[in-house]
Amino acid sequence: MDAKKIFTAHSNFFQSHARLLSVSERKKSLRKIDRWIVSHEGAIINSLWQDFRKPAPETLLSEIKMVRDELSLIRQSLATWARPETTPNPLTLIGSRSQIYRQPKGPALIIGAWNYPFTLTIGPLLGAIAAGCTAVVKPSELAPATSQLVADLVADCFDPDYITVVQGGIPETQALLEQPWGHIFFTGSKRVGRIVMEAAAQHLSSVTLELGGENPVIIDKSANLSAAAAQLVWGKFFNAGQTCIAPNHLFIDRAVYDSFLEELQKALTDLYSRENEQPATDIACLIGASHFERMQQLLSDAEAQGAQVVVQGKQEPDAHYFGPTIVKDVPLNSPLVQEEVFGPILSCIPYDDIQPVYQHIDSQDAALALYVFARNRRFVDQVIAHTTAGTTVVNTVNIQFANPHLPFGGVGKSGVGKGHGWYSYAAFTHPRAVVRQGPLALNRFIFPPYTPARERVVRWLYRWF
Ligand code: NAD
Repeated sequence: MDAKKIFTAHSNFFQSHARLLSVSERKKSLRKIDRWIVSHEGAIINSLWQDFRKPAPETLLSEIKMVRDELSLIRQSLATWARPETTPNPLTLIGSRSQIYRQPKGPALIIGAWNYPFTLTIGPLLGAIAAGCTAVVKPSELAPATSQLVADLVADCFDPDYITVVQGGIPETQALLEQPWGHIFFTGSKRVGRIVMEAAAQHLSSVTLELGGENPVIIDKSANLSAAAAQLVWGKFFNAGQTCIAPNHLFIDRAVYDSFLEELQKALTDLYSRENEQPATDIACLIGASHFERMQQLLSDAEAQGAQVVVQGKQEPDAHYFGPTIVKDVPLNSPLVQEEVFGPILSCIPYDDIQPVYQHIDSQDAALALYVFARNRRFVDQVIAHTTAGTTVVNTVNIQFANPHLPFGGVGKSGVGKGHGWYSYAAFTHPRAVVRQGPLALNRFIFPPYTPARERVVRWLYRWF
């Protein structure tokens, strides 16, 4: 792989073709992707199963449907988004017309994470195509079957100078990062996010960084406990907890702490009643041996710090299967609370007073998602006002990702910029200000020389316009 050669080819294609593509040509490219997805549904499900035994219903929802929903929104809206927008003019600019043209930023680089390996590469690609960029897509090497599938999709649909996939790991990504991209859209960890931002700074390339976070959940005593427990068990163990917006740890009002723990166990039994079947097919595996060992370590560290395991799922080290696990009385300094768990361990912490909970949330990096369960609306408003997070959902979890009309992304250390739908299109485009002066140009009256009469005109304009 010669990153410089790929960049040069993309740069040339951008200059001569991509930036000039009409809205209908861009929509045609999007349609090609949609057709490919529909005709390869089985292959997509299989590749995710091969990579980490992701259950087919979860692939259908979170990889296939999400991408197709976003694609459909972009196709429907692109003509409107791409139309130059006329802005109001100040009176001093009478005789001119001000507009905003959205223009593609140039050749784009998209780097994906492994946990939703289809959605996180093809999703941003939709925005890049809609914008009129060329794109190099670098899927994660940790999900090799899906990485190959993404490469097949792109090779089947596009000229490689327009869209191409580079497969590989760190050396390939670093070589790509040395090029002066128009925009870099990265999804992954904070650690690598810093590396990407440093590389982008060398060329002053713009970036979108979709990073992770330690997503807290607050459960008020007014919450519907059984409904909350079912939603949390579903959202936490979907994709085996390997979701950037998965609930990380629960702050539960002590008045309902014990009853909520019982509800969680009931919900777990209901949702994962088939967990002991061989193989367990309702919950995915972890992506690799080191991820499995990390879960074991997190759990034993928390126990050594006084946390108690309420439910421990079965473990199959060879398959990297770590069953749904619930831990209570987790100390705030435990790595289960301090780090993004990114796996199927759910921690419970009781609280007596909400203020220290706000302080603790504030002391951590800003969350990618913060969830609140309550029937008391004032309580919900107070939580939103006292905290910062990329996204918030009330009385369920994760569904913010499924609405392509909403901006998706973090704030502070959980991310830079936003993706999905319009926000993805906006990330790959630059709003270019274009002002057209007509024959009546008032500024003629303020040209030098600055005689006393001219100065009077300027003062008059300054005062009245
Ligand atoms: P990662 O940061 O390890 O890898 C992401 C990508 O960067 C991969 O394509 C990888 O090949 C590349 N990479 C890894 N090390 C690199 C290096 N040293 N130099 C250059 N490139 C490098 O992340 P991951 O393990 O694939 O994904 C998990 C993380 O992603 C979690 O923190 C999760 O929260 C986050 N995530 C965020 C979102 C979001 O939308 N905000 C979505 C999914 C995942």
